[in-house]
Parts: sequence; C-alpha cells; structure tokens
Amino acid sequence: MKKIQMVDLKGQYQGIKEEVNRGMQEILEETSFINGPHVHAFQKELEEYLNIKHVIPCANGTDALQIAMMGLGLKPGDEVITADFTFAATVEVIALLQLTPVLVDVDPDTFNIDPEEIRKAITPNTKAIVPVHLFGQTADMDAIMRIAKEHDLYVIEDNAQAIGANYHSVENGISKAGTIGDVSATSFFPSKNLGCYGDGGAIFTNNDELAHTIRGIVNHGMYERYHHDVVGVNSRLDSFQAAVLRAKLKNLDLYNEARKEAAINYTEAFSSYTDIVTPVRSGDCDSHVFHQYTLKIGNGKRDGLAKHLQEKGIPFGIYYPIPLHRQKAYLDDRYNEKDFTVTNQLVKEVISLPMHTELDEEQIQYITQTIINYLNQ
Ligand SMILES: *Cc1c(COP(=O)(O)O)cnc(C)c1O
Repeated sequence: MKKIQMVDLKGQYQGIKEEVNRGMQEILEETSFINGPHVHAFQKELEEYLNIKHVIPCANGTDALQIAMMGLGLKPGDEVITADFTFAATVEVIALLQLTPVLVDVDPDTFNIDPEEIRKAITPNTKAIVPVHLFGQTADMDAIMRIAKEHDLYVIEDNAQAIGANYHSVENGISKAGTIGDVSATSFFPSKNLGCYGDGGAIFTNNDELAHTIRGIVNHGMYERYHHDVVGVNSRLDSFQAAVLRAKLKNLDLYNEARKEAAINYTEAFSSYTDIVTPVRSGDCDSHVFHQYTLKIGNGKRDGLAKHLQEKGIPFGIYYPIPLHRQKAYLDDRYNEKDFTVTNQLVKEVISLPMHTELDEEQIQYITQTIINYLNQ
C-alpha cells in the first residue's frame, strides 16, 4: 500500500509535471516573475471557468478577504457577521480593519453558517455577512442573499475551501461557489482544491466598479502610475504560481470528481455504524467538493479514535478544535455560550480523514477498517 498522506501533492504533480515544468522554464527565460503573461492568462482562464467578470489575483486568501472588505469601503465600527466554526483568517481580517466581528453559530449537519442565527445577530451597525463555504460545501446562499437584500448588507463569500463547487439556487439556477455574493475571496494555498506551490489567492466579483477599486488596492492604491488615491496594499500572485494554477485549473473538475469518489467510498464503508456521522450533503452532488471529509464521532470517542489513528500511522485533522468566540484574540463580552451550542459540540466531535486526488481504494479500505475496528471494540 502507498503511504497514506493527508494531502498527496507529489502524486498529483506527476500528472501535470510536463506542463508545470514547461511553464516554470518559460518564466525563467522571460524573467517575467511578477505580473507576467502566465498571471494574465490564469486570470482569464479562471474568469471563464467561474463564469464571472473579474478575477483579481493576489498574494494569499487572507489578503483576498481583507482586500474585498477594503474594496467595499467598510469602516471601523461596522459589524460583520461570520461563522464561529471556521479558520481564523476570516475573523482576523475583520478585526485588523477595526471592523467589529460578530460570530454566529452554524448548522449541525453542514457545518455552515446558520441563516437564522445571522438574522438574530443583525443590528443597525451590521454592514456585511461573510459566509464560509466550509469543507467544500456551499452555504445556504439563497437564504443568505435574501437576508442581505432585506437589510441592505454586503455578502462576501469566503470560497477558500469550495472552488469548483456548484450552488443550485431555487431562484437563479446553477452558479459556481464564489460568484453569488457581491465579492468573494479564495486561497490557492497548496492543500486547497486548487492550490499552487506557494502562497496565492484571488478576489472575484461581477461588479465593474468594485473590480476597478480592488485592482488599485492590490497595487498600493495606484490607479495611475505613482498617483496614490487610496491606501492600498502590495498583494500579488507571482508568475510561477500562476503557471502551476493554469495546469491545475484544467484538471480541477477531475480533481474534485476524484475527491467525491473518495468521499462516496468512505461514506459507504461507514454507513452502518451509529457512532459515526458521515458528511451531510445539503444539495445536489456537485454542491460539495470535499475540501475535507469530516466525520462526527459520537459518545465521547473522538479523542480516543484520534490517538488510535496516530498509532496506526493514519493522518487526520481536527478542524477546528476551538470555537473562534473562545479564542483569546477574539473574546468579547457580548458573546453568550448558549448561543454557540452547535459549535461547542462540533469541536468535540469532528475529525477529518485523509482527502486528496490520489487516494486509492486500498488506502480507503485500510483507513475505514481501522476506524471501524477501533469503534467496535
Ligand atoms: C485557507 C483559508 C483561508 C486563508 O487562506 P491563506 O491563503 O492561507 O491566507 C481563509 N479562509 C478559509 C476558510 C480557509 O480555509
């Protein structure tokens, strides 16, 4: 059996080696390291894939979130509602911009932000909602967009984990995750579904004016060379990363299909075990691209299982072990533990299994059997 890894980037590289190496070589010959032809080509190709008007590449996903919020002109004191159960980058940039993060609880089945909890958290100072499409599954965008419209709020999608997923809207048909809100942010961190070989990120929007504003912000607030109209940042995708992303974008649907296959195999193997709750897909089969395959392990057995997997050499992840509202940096007197019952439970029960494009049936068989044997004893 091949060694089991949480993510197998080396195996994936074998399939795109020639194209990636050729791209790297071209960039070396051209010495076009920043804003070269590969960056422009990637931008166009991603716009086409997502069917969105503007993709603005930047240095990483955290920057993308920050720049999206800067582009919308959010001001200190504005309240931004986001999920308690997610990676800290989302709340971090809200706080960095001196906006006020308002964390709310999530849905126990999908782990995504609960629209009813968003409603309860709205105040006259609320300006934006940041749904995170967690673990590869789109949040309930119909409900979120309806709330946003009613209260005149911006929607910033954190699409770092769900690139390629389709959202099936009752009202507006099928669209790609990250193309529904006012603006979206994504990450090309190596382990993401569309990952490069370093750091990278992008902002998406259909709004021409916002796109123009953001293109200036990523480049020191310059709209005309050496004229700085707004306070900006320096956030760029480099050409090497763009060359990797171009090769991978062509295969993104195949990669996501391979993840889904692995997820189906896992779920089948676990189907009759009461201590294991397999991922719940709220929509059609293409609405989840399984950035993570995350189980809930009941009856207080999660930590024991984690220890057992470690002993058996099976990698796993606990995403996420601490709710954001209990992180030291984001403590706030307004929070009440009884408003976070779902997240408080999830942090004790979730465990994510190896998930990538190169998993084979033998590996999945070994992983699932090890888990079942442990829980059965
Ligand atoms: C990875 C991730 C980010 C941050 O992306 P970086 O490129 O690492 O800065 C933000 N939000 C979520 C949900 C993520 O998973």
